Amino acid sequence: MQNSTSITQTQLTRPPLRLNWGNTLFLTITPLIALIGMPLHIYYVGTSWSLIGVFVIYLIATGLSITGGYHRLFAHRSYEANCMVKLFYLIFGAAACENSALHWATDHRNHHRFVDQDPDPYNIRLGFFHAHMGWVLLKRPKKLSFDREHDLSEDSLVRWQHRFYLPLAIIIGGGLPLLIGYYLGNALGCFLLAGITRIVIVHHATFLINSLCHFLGKQPYSLKDSSRDSALVAFLTYGEGYHNFHHRFQYDYRNGIRWYHFDPTKWLIKTLEILRLANGLHRASDMHIFKARLDVQRNQVEQRLAGFSQEFREAMERNIHITHEALLSAYANWGKLRAEYRSVRKSIGDKGRRLILKLEQDLRRARSHYMATRASWALIVQQGYLQVPA
Ligand SMILES: [Zn+2]
Ligand SMILES: [Zn+2]
Repeated sequence: MQNSTSITQTQLTRPPLRLNWGNTLFLTITPLIALIGMPLHIYYVGTSWSLIGVFVIYLIATGLSITGGYHRLFAHRSYEANCMVKLFYLIFGAAACENSALHWATDHRNHHRFVDQDPDPYNIRLGFFHAHMGWVLLKRPKKLSFDREHDLSEDSLVRWQHRFYLPLAIIIGGGLPLLIGYYLGNALGCFLLAGITRIVIVHHATFLINSLCHFLGKQPYSLKDSSRDSALVAFLTYGEGYHNFHHRFQYDYRNGIRWYHFDPTKWLIKTLEILRLANGLHRASDMHIFKARLDVQRNQVEQRLAGFSQEFREAMERNIHITHEALLSAYANWGKLRAEYRSVRKSIGDKGRRLILKLEQDLRRARSHYMATRASWALIVQQGYLQVPA
């Protein structure tokens, strides 16, 4: 009885859902043109390698402006960029037709602040479709406030793009492909391919991060929210799919931290740094990342102990605690020696041969100690807790 009353009250206090007709029409018509109009045009008129080239360049420029610019630079400030790079991101970010950087970054910061709760604009708890694109189709219950985002609203370039977002989106997103197409001899074809179809692909790639990356995948770094790592989405979104890592370490300019992780946005930012067009790249320390992974594993093992006797649980928890601390200390020691070894090698070259040999020995010892402790931990994580004492 009490339950049904509270549900009725919630429904009464919640504002009615109203469609944002502008967004709804845009997000319905553009995919229809891409799926029907564009293939028909290719069938009847044909296409060319130069048109495909313009499409690919536009896809990469607008996609990376969202991931490297709107997301990792403006929303998270995970690095600093030269004003020409910022200008590029703002111009081609507008051409992605995902709103101004100020708007986009404010929504995204609210996503991180209130993840999985009501004020999260793309809250996955309201369903996959809502998180994917449903939230864009609806009118906001109240106007978005930029009051907390001083760094963005005080940035003159960001303010300029916010003010002229619509003309920029129309001119760079649609007008320029039309013009390029005109010079290449197929204005409509270029508009349909590098304009409309490209917008649809970039839209749904971005949407997948908010939907699929909160729905499917692993959670190696944090169990506190619904975010997940998905290599598939990373492949489709220039590296943004390592979303569980990103939610845990949102200040890190990388999303995929291993060398084999597909993260072109990270490679772009690193290249910009080498070219002196970006600086101040933030990264989480190896120790913090290692500790986050261990905490998740410890949490999972402790949860699975719940069904066992108190005596066994306490013994296991002691064992888990001791091995956990030993592993952290072994990893920290190995990391410290690695850093010392690298800096000594760099600074003294072959002159300090004896010191280097000693460090190499210490390093080998620290590594084997770390590997042995890790093996004990792996035993706990995988099977140790399953052995019920007699
Ligand atoms: Zn997220
Ligand atoms: Zn983010």
